[in-house]
Amino acid sequence: MSNVEIIKKDSGDIVDGLIRDLKKFQKQRDWEKFHTPENLAKSISIEAAELLEHFQWQKEYDSSEVADELADVLIYCIYMADAMDFDIREIIYDKMRKNAVKYPVKP
Ligand SMILES: [Mg+2]
Repeated sequence: MSNVEIIKKDSGDIVDGLIRDLKKFQKQRDWEKFHTPENLAKSISIEAAELLEHFQWQKEYDSSEVADELADVLIYCIYMADAMDFDIREIIYDKMRKNAVKYPVKP
């Protein structure tokens, strides 16, 4: 069993709880109709730009504000995975496996 598979088993409950809470938040506000893949892809990009803005022209930043923008990106990513019927664990670990082949650890 690879390290990737070991981490995956340990993180299941945390990920499931996070997805459940985010979907509940979304449903309570009737936001599913707005959360199309296209709108969510745009929102991820917009929030990523807001994240980047904290590093524009300066080396100092407010870590609390950076955390807020990073959370916005992550939340929209989770909503997009849900809208696309992707299991975020599967797509992340599939990509990690591809990256492990592409970028092998040097002995
Ligand atoms: Mg934001």
